[in-house]
Amino acid sequence: MSEYAQLLRGAELRVTRPRVAVLEAVHTRPHADTETIFGEVRTVLEGVSRQTVYDVLHAVTAAGLVRRIQPSGSVARYESRVGDNHHHVICRSCGVIADVDCAVGEAPCLTASYDSGFLIEEAEVIYWGMCPDCARSPTR
Ligand SMILES: [Zn+2]
Ligand SMILES: [Zn+2]
Repeated sequence: MSEYAQLLRGAELRVTRPRVAVLEAVHTRPHADTETIFGEVRTVLEGVSRQTVYDVLHAVTAAGLVRRIQPSGSVARYESRVGDNHHHVICRSCGVIADVDCAVGEAPCLTASYDSGFLIEEAEVIYWGMCPDCARSPTR
């Protein structure tokens, strides 16, 4: 059984070829958008429909196997790195996304200085700036 099938079983999701293919695509292409994932899945499952890929992304996100991020002005992106509340840094120029750790082994951002009595589960932090490539050629 593949590691993706095992992940699906662990989340009590039925193992189907589209689900395995979508998980594999998300694992190999971190922060990919739906179109990229669709393209990737189609290379292994030729006849798969866009709707199937959308549905699978929804199911694996709801099951916590995949994390969905949606930076403002961007389409949704998906990644397999879940459960550590890491953050993202995004290039304003080319849109490339990189992971930023909260802190080694911990998620201190979940401890807000004042929480208004809320039970906080997630802190979504996005740093915007210029990636090294774009910073080198600002007029591209
Ligand atoms: Zn850039
Ligand atoms: Zn990430």
